This record gives sequence, C-alpha cells and structure tokens, in this order.
Amino acid sequence: MTADSVSGAAPVFDNSYAALPERFYTKLDPAPVAEPALIALNEGLAEEMGLDTAWLRSEAGLAMFAGNRLPEGAEPLTQVYAGHQFGGWSPQLGDGRANLIGEIAGPDGRHWDIQLKGSGQTPYSRMGDGRAWLGPVLREYIVSEAMHAFGVPTTRALAAVSTGERVLREAPFPGAFLTRVAPSHVRVGTFQYFAARQDTDALEHLCEFTLARHYPEATGEGALGLLRSVTRVQARLVAQWMGLGFIHGVMNTDNAHMGGLTIDYGPCAFMDSYNPAQVFSSIDQFGRYAYQAQPEILVWNLAQLASSLLPLMDADQDKAVAQARNVLHGFGAAYTEAWTKIFLAKIGLREARDGDIALVQDLLGRMAEGDADFTLTFRALAGLDTATARALFSNSEQFDDWAERWQARLSDEPGEESEKTDRMRLANPAFIPRNHRIEEAIQFALAGDYGPFERLVSALATPFEDQPAHVALQQPPAEDEIVRQTFCGT
Ligand code: AMP
Ligand code: MG
Repeated sequence: MTADSVSGAAPVFDNSYAALPERFYTKLDPAPVAEPALIALNEGLAEEMGLDTAWLRSEAGLAMFAGNRLPEGAEPLTQVYAGHQFGGWSPQLGDGRANLIGEIAGPDGRHWDIQLKGSGQTPYSRMGDGRAWLGPVLREYIVSEAMHAFGVPTTRALAAVSTGERVLREAPFPGAFLTRVAPSHVRVGTFQYFAARQDTDALEHLCEFTLARHYPEATGEGALGLLRSVTRVQARLVAQWMGLGFIHGVMNTDNAHMGGLTIDYGPCAFMDSYNPAQVFSSIDQFGRYAYQAQPEILVWNLAQLASSLLPLMDADQDKAVAQARNVLHGFGAAYTEAWTKIFLAKIGLREARDGDIALVQDLLGRMAEGDADFTLTFRALAGLDTATARALFSNSEQFDDWAERWQARLSDEPGEESEKTDRMRLANPAFIPRNHRIEEAIQFALAGDYGPFERLVSALATPFEDQPAHVALQQPPAEDEIVRQTFCGT
C-alpha cells in the first residue's frame, strides 16, 4: 500500500457547469508544475466543505492543488466570459490563468467550485503566461479570508502551493497556485459574452443555472428576478466594502460576481487614513474605481447586466426595458439603506433618527480633513475611547465638536453602555489586512519565511477581537512603510 491510499478520502465531484453546453467552456487539464509544496491549507474551510484534511495534506492532495494529478471525477475546464474593462468592451475574456477542476457538494448541500488559479495557459490567456507568482497568491489568500471573517460575501481560499518554478514578471519570481473556492464563478461578463452573440438559448441556460445556484427562492421569477436579486446583493456587498474602507480596484464587469461575492482580488486594498478619493491600483489612472466611485460603478455594471438580460425578460423589448429600468431605479434606495445601516451601526446607532445620517457624514468629512485612520477611528469609538480617537485627527478640535454631539445622541440610544460597545465592536474591526503588512508578508515569504504571512492570517481570522499579541498589526504604516500603489495579480 502506498502512503496515499491510506490517507483519507478524495473529494467526490458533483459537476454541473461541465454539463452545460460546450460553448460555455473549454475542457482542459491544468498544466503540471515541477515541484509543488504546500504553503497553506485552510482547514476550517475544508471542514465546512466536507473535505478530508488528511487527504488534502497527502501527496494526492498536493498533486491536486498543483494541478499535477486530479482525483477521479474531476472534469477540468476553463470558463469563457466577456466584459467591460475600464469601460472598454472586450468581447472575449475567460479564465486565462485558472482552471475549474470540478464542483463538490458540501455536507449542508451547498455547491462549491474548486478552481486552481495559476494553472497555465488556456485558450483565453491572450498574451499571458497563465501563471501566478507567490505575491498575488498570498495577497488573495490573506484578503479573501479576512473578507470572510468580516462577514463579507467572498470567494474563499482553500489552499496555496508553491510550484518550484519561476514566473517571469519584472523579475523572475517563485510561482504559486491558489485554490479558490466559491458557490460559482459566474460573472456579469458571462452573461455579456452570450448576449453579445445573441445566443438567447445560452442565456436561458445560464440564467437558470445562476438562479438555481444563488437564488433558489427566485427561480420562478426568471431574468427579472435574477436582476432584482443581483441588484440587492451587490448593493449590500459594496456598502459592506465602504464600511471597511475597502477598494476593489478593478470593478470591471468580468470581476462582478452574479452571486454578489467579492471576486478577483488584484490591486485591491484597504485604506489607512480616510480619503474618499483614494485609489491604489497602478492602472486606474483616472480614479474610475476610487473608493467613493464604487457605488456608481456598480450601477453601471448592473446596467450592463440588465441589457444582457433583456432578451429573456419580455418578447416586447420596450416592455423589457421598462421592467429592467424599474429594477435599476430601485438600486439607489437599496444601497442607501444598506450603507446607512452599516455606518449607523459603526457609531452605535440602531435606527436612523433625523440627523443621524448627517452625523455620520459629518464625521467622515472631518476624518478626511484630519487624515484620521479609518479603522482605528471607528474602533476607538467602539470602545468609547474618545481620547484615542481625537489623537488620530491631525486637527483634533475638529473631532471634539463632533464627539460631543455623538455622545449626546448615543446616550439617548436605548440599552446599556456595554451592549452598545459590544455591538460597535462587531461593526468595527480591530484588524484589517493593511497594505504594508501584506507587502511585508510577501517579502518575508520570498525569503522563505512564512511567519509574517501566518501571523497575519491568524490575526485576521478573528478581526473583531482585541489580540494583544498582534497589536503591531493594527497600526497604520510609518511614513516609509506606506504602500502607495498596488498591482494586478498578473
Ligand atoms: P483580472 O482583471 O485581473 O481579473 O484579469 C483579466 C483577464 O486577464 C482575465 O481573463 C484573466 O484570466 C486574464 N489574465 C490575468 N493574468 C493572466 C496571466 N498571467 N495569464 C493569462 N491570463 C491572465
Ligand atoms: Mg478577473
């Protein structure tokens, strides 16, 4: 008996995307790599998915994570999609460096796509090499898992492996794979791909697939129900990003998930000091995807989705347009409601009274002027620690005036003080994946030391808890540590 055959059970696949018509994908094996080694395995997630961690840690598990040998029942494929990139139409994109090896059903019946990112060239690679290097793999692992811990819908990171190969970027870097898992990888751009080809039959299949996977309660409502559902979940998603100071960085329609998950962690970043116009991405020259632009861009993306779905809505296209428009008009109210709830919770308020939204806006305005650290300011408020909060403002008097009004309003809020602070702590994380810490983790990993990566992942697993051992990870960067630009994961 080999070591393999005694180390647990392989995943049992239950593939559904592969059962869709062939024009949805290209069947393709991942390109094998030289010398894979496990960097990280997300055991909590593996358990949630009903996977056997002993098997995942075995030689067979590693071979799967590296795309070298897939378990029986895997039907590897690369998905095709299209999309608007920075507003410009690309009629064909697709998994250029990823491979969906198959789907499994978890113990609770939920479906999970298992996708290898960095798995080699595909028909959709365009000029790319289909590979990924260690930096973006660790970045996505850290940030996507932190997102999950914040309670924000996201694709997850099941594992990271190094490949033993070099990937040429500005310099040769160690290659790596991320195993990304999610209930699906259907994007707004997937719908756009078929809509642009006037392939109504494919749109119908895709609509049905997406409803069944993400919105079973709306299956009877067709394309309009799908648009309504996506609008609702995406509005909430972007409001959650705003509440964390998160900037996605590439809100192209191919990076907009139909299930309302955060997907495609490229040049994304969390703000340190609050600046609504903040942009990190090196390729976002005009601030199209700046922090404050995100809700508007989302509506733009939803409008692209709506137009792709029109052929399914009504044979009378004028009627279809009117129906879609009606849904999109509801976006503003849905987003404002989600945003308001999140930001009121951040300052300890449960129900909006007159003046409450203005109170939040006033604080944000003062934070922007005073260069206050977004995360630390709200966390200090959560502990009613106005002394710490005021010290975060370059012009502290600006804060004092606001704090007086806030304290008066908060004391008017029903409930014990301890309840209020408990609630506020759950709305205001102590830890975010700060850019300079991610960068540090990558630099250490490049030198063979995964300690800082592991520390960061560990601290971010419970971001709402004070963790004295990790207090250094809470701090904003010193002047010479500030990361001003982030790059796509290519
Ligand atoms: P992104 O906006 O980073 O999600 O990527 C846009 C498109 O470029 C997607 O279709 C990716 O699959 C593709 N892509 C990104 N990096 C690479 C790469 N290294 N090799 C091949 N394709 C890539
Ligand atoms: Mg993408």
